[in-house]
Amino acid sequence: MKKFKVGILGATGTVGQNYIKLLQDHPWFEIVDVAASPRSAGKSYVEAVKEKWQMAISIPNKIKDLTVRDVQDFEKIPKDLNFVFSAINMPTKEQIKELEYNYAKKGFPLISNNSAHRWTSDVPMVIGEINHEHINVIPIQQKNKDFTKGFIVVKPNCSLQSYLTPIYALEQAGYKVEKLIITTLQAVSGAGYPGVPSLDIIDNIVPYINGEEEKTEEEPLKILGKIGKNGIENYKNIQISATCTRVPVSDGHIASVHVKFKDKVPLKEEIIDIWKAFKSLPQELDLPFAPNQPIIYLENVDRPQPKKDRDNDKGMAVTIGRLREDNIFDYKFVSLSHNTIRGAAGGAILNAELLVAKGFIK
Ligand code: NAP
Repeated sequence: MKKFKVGILGATGTVGQNYIKLLQDHPWFEIVDVAASPRSAGKSYVEAVKEKWQMAISIPNKIKDLTVRDVQDFEKIPKDLNFVFSAINMPTKEQIKELEYNYAKKGFPLISNNSAHRWTSDVPMVIGEINHEHINVIPIQQKNKDFTKGFIVVKPNCSLQSYLTPIYALEQAGYKVEKLIITTLQAVSGAGYPGVPSLDIIDNIVPYINGEEEKTEEEPLKILGKIGKNGIENYKNIQISATCTRVPVSDGHIASVHVKFKDKVPLKEEIIDIWKAFKSLPQELDLPFAPNQPIIYLENVDRPQPKKDRDNDKGMAVTIGRLREDNIFDYKFVSLSHNTIRGAAGGAILNAELLVAKGFIK
């Protein structure tokens, strides 16, 4: 198969570096364009990231000497580029929205890690195992925005996949969830580079992450929603209350989850069986980045742990443990997912594979 030529906007940042690492041997995609701010533009990639390369591999040879393009410089986009991943950070959401819109307007499919377009109702916010059918909103988006070939697809916030995938699996099995109380313990890489100052986080926990609780409470409602006439209509049947904290862990977001079911309450063994058996379209299509088993349940009383479990199935699986009955709600459990892989670059790569498999990226 001839590989799709791919560009990374924000290639020098934390998520951008993860794309460079994860796509180095990808069977379908090949990076031909790296773009970032004017600070990096014009430098070779190796020069642009020399003080801040965080991956535990060397920069792949094919990428080292690529010249970093200014994300706003549309003239220098390689002629054969097929689509882009966006992992830029800019001072305002409006700037990001406009930039991403301009790429789609120029005819490029764009898969974004940013929150700027997550609430645009005709932009699908996709977790491949949950709401893959939301990509069918793309023709509505193209019509509304007057895009010919381009479109925008986004990924949700990096902490969501750990708890939403297991909750969705239970809903699919007929156990409707009414209330969730979620406390996240989020890794420092979630704040990008250089992120949280070391003196703020070493020997400490910061009980606040700007904007994160709103995302944790609201984004699931769009993901669980249905396509309506003009875009996605939110699901209204789950109430979520979240507390989000930053902890001194490099990668891997943990969520402590309390669940109350609407009416039928499954047995503990049933829940574990549902999780272990859960598979969805990415597994059926055997997409390269799909984890074989999207939800792994560990019986050990002291798991999951970020250091030991975040890399399960290429960093794409959600790992759960400590399912037990709750005195106030029905059950509680602890779940983990890799924030920069499943929650960012890896999740977006899976979305791109889905878009190729379904004919949206040609
Ligand atoms: P980061 O490490 O701060 O990287 C930011 C990137 O954006 C760099 O490539 C930077 O280029 C570029 N940039 C900064 N200002 C710019 C400007 N004015 N114009 C053009 N490019 C600019 O951030 P990150 O953690 O990779 O996050 C990137 C995006 O993904 C954010 O929206 C974040 O919320 C989202 N996200 C992050 C995670 C995570 O776990 N880190 C997870 C999910 C989603 P220079 O190097 O040239 O400055």
